[in-house]
Amino acid sequence: MNLIPVRTPKSAKSLFPDLVWDLPSKEKVIYLTFDDGPTPIITDWTLDVLKQYNAKATFFCIGKNVEAHPDIFNKIIADGHSIGNHTYNHIKGWTTSTENYILNIEKAQKVMSKLIQNSEFRIQNYFRPPYGQIKPKQAKTLIQLGYKIIMWMVAAIDWDASVSKEKCLDNVVNNTISGDIVVFHDSIKAANNMQYALPKVLEYFSEKGFKFKCIPE
Ligand SMILES: [Zn+2]
Repeated sequence: MNLIPVRTPKSAKSLFPDLVWDLPSKEKVIYLTFDDGPTPIITDWTLDVLKQYNAKATFFCIGKNVEAHPDIFNKIIADGHSIGNHTYNHIKGWTTSTENYILNIEKAQKVMSKLIQNSEFRIQNYFRPPYGQIKPKQAKTLIQLGYKIIMWMVAAIDWDASVSKEKCLDNVVNNTISGDIVVFHDSIKAANNMQYALPKVLEYFSEKGFKFKCIPE
């Protein structure tokens, strides 16, 4: 069962104001994010589709996937997108001690920094907790270490095979407003839904004059 709402309730924003949920703007802008990659074929496909629409996004990578696929990781950077940290091996904050959680994130950060081929690219300290799970103490420690914790306002729910691809598209089209951070997944599990919804989301909002940008510093 999916417990994550399509649109994040206002209460979450007011309970956790130190986390970044959206980036309100007068401009028509949407911040697409992709979690759980890099994944062979699927991330490559995602990059191609984003390029077709001149869209930039932020990829929250899993450290061990970056180790396994450094070329795809570097392609994300070469295409002008931003990178975020999604732990080394997709651990759950609520069942991990703060110490181990931070170590795991720092390990992923080192892996990514080391594998970057473009010497001019500076990795941003963006972190997204897997499953949206993070303890207040973990969040506080990460913020003290200089990380920005990036949540989302709209979830496509693309990872859930019991959700149809048409519903994933509706989730994004009917719930996204300017300044929202939207989460998709460049993973095998989500591919069927994401590959259906993403081009249609790009088409729909581009026609309405929206731009798709990386999360700014
Ligand atoms: Zn994830």
